[in-house]
Amino acid sequence: MSQLNLILLGPPGAGKGTQADRLREDFGLPHISTGDMLRAQVAEGTDLGKEAKRYMDAGELVPDEVIVGMITERVADNDAGDGFLLDGFPRNESQADSLAKALGEMERDLTAALLVEVPDDDVVRRLAGRRVCVKNPAHIYHVDFDPPKHEGICDQDGARLIQRDDDREETIRKRLDVYHAQTEPLIEYYDRAGLLRRFDGTRDPDEVHAHIRAVIATLRLEEDL
Ligand SMILES: [Zn+2]
Repeated sequence: MSQLNLILLGPPGAGKGTQADRLREDFGLPHISTGDMLRAQVAEGTDLGKEAKRYMDAGELVPDEVIVGMITERVADNDAGDGFLLDGFPRNESQADSLAKALGEMERDLTAALLVEVPDDDVVRRLAGRRVCVKNPAHIYHVDFDPPKHEGICDQDGARLIQRDDDREETIRKRLDVYHAQTEPLIEYYDRAGLLRRFDGTRDPDEVHAHIRAVIATLRLEEDL
């Protein structure tokens, strides 16, 4: 069977995590989140983790080679033999080049870059509407999509609901500005390479999932021809 070596792109709040979970269930693809992987390796004190920590302790960005090293190690694991779903990397063209080179050395190619698109105003509405219980952060509501029975009060324990600083509109808009500045050239890069597949992230998550599945099925057919 052909490999599915996939990259997941999209703004914060696009529901990428949900789609990654579903794709892992559908195709058994490990979800390689570079942020999680970096934190785990630093915590475990692996060689790459120690190297990354030196940069982090100095207040510097972890160099791309270290991240790419972690990705290639992970991709070499047995469970990634049929493919993987990479999330959080690359974030710019130079990282995309480093990744392509490292995968090429493993005789693997990217199958596609899946872009889940959501307009900025929708992202802001999704994220800025979140309210979290001060007693238990697992109690999460949304002012429009999942409101509590009484405004500002947790249904489960009566505690106060607050908006986290990360969920403030100003913070979200800043993150979106960074996302657009870095990712738009990357989107063009994968489009030029014929690898980009676009999905409408404003649709219901089930519909987005069905669309991604259909596209992946087509990619597999094309590869097997
Ligand atoms: Zn609560």
